[in-house]
Amino acid sequence: MASGQVFIGVDVGGTKVAVNGIDENRQPISPQWLEMPSNSHIGPSATVSQIVAAVQAFMQRQNIAAASIAGAGVDSPGPANINGRIERSSNMNSNWEGFELRENVQTQLSAALAKPIHVSYENDCNSAGLWESFVGDPQGTEVMALLAPGTGLGGGIVIKGRLLRGTRGMGAELGHLEIVHPPFMDGWQPQCGCGRIHCAEAYASMAALARILRFALAQEKYRNHPLNQVKEADEAQTWKKRAYAVRGLAAAGDELCLAIFDWQSAALARLCHQVACVIDPDRLVIGGGFIEGGAALTERIMGVIRSEFAKITFKAYAAGVKFEVARSGDQAGCLGAALSAWQHAHHQG
Ligand SMILES: [Zn+2]
Repeated sequence: MASGQVFIGVDVGGTKVAVNGIDENRQPISPQWLEMPSNSHIGPSATVSQIVAAVQAFMQRQNIAAASIAGAGVDSPGPANINGRIERSSNMNSNWEGFELRENVQTQLSAALAKPIHVSYENDCNSAGLWESFVGDPQGTEVMALLAPGTGLGGGIVIKGRLLRGTRGMGAELGHLEIVHPPFMDGWQPQCGCGRIHCAEAYASMAALARILRFALAQEKYRNHPLNQVKEADEAQTWKKRAYAVRGLAAAGDELCLAIFDWQSAALARLCHQVACVIDPDRLVIGGGFIEGGAALTERIMGVIRSEFAKITFKAYAAGVKFEVARSGDQAGCLGAALSAWQHAHHQG
């Protein structure tokens, strides 16, 4: 049984909620999170019920009494304000707009555990950044940023143990910094989900990858490319499956897929330069699904980022900035949310 105080963290996503916790010494309670469907398509009340149920299931599994719970944190993809109120988003059910996620989780969790529980809120990439900074630098002495290209391109900035949340909770929207990067092929146009072009996310993300593939695979020279043989019943599934197949093909040495990864990695290097110019970091951490294609591909991506960064940035940054792969993968979200709760209880961060 976990003794002493426990801080619970819940990573709330479109499809699942993931729960873990940390102890007083900020060590994870479990090596693996507990997960449940988030039911976000049904609406916010259904998700809050799932969050509370998942926390209770985690407590039961880990034999944690309600008396030990000293606080909780939730994160979500946002967009949300600094108090965890969900803002309008095109890819979200409209009944989420204006929902006070943090406050509702606090009310429902306190009722379920029959004691007042303070709940903190973070954007999911900020939460992951907070945890990655702590894991690499437990004393909180560094300046770091997490860049996490996945479906989009998320980021988090931590300055000496303190998360840069900003005034509105919109700090470190690194994916929407603009970069100057040549198109992958002549005629290809970048397009970000936010409607603008030239955002880093329009170059280095799964969304960008899908756009590149549609363009590249239509070229005559790729007519017989293995990705053009991937076909599903409907068009959307076909392209989804093709996008997911790129990492495996790149790992196996496919020329087109490797060229896409190299080009996206160079785009990331340009974003790293932008970030370095703003925060002058000790460490830049690369996470997200982009980096999870196996050891050889990860090494190649990190190599391109380091060398391109060295070419375009100031000598002092090129010589001094450490580049690392994120250490905690998808666990960083819920553990960062727990760390946010720990920091709140200890008046830090
Ligand atoms: Zn954008």
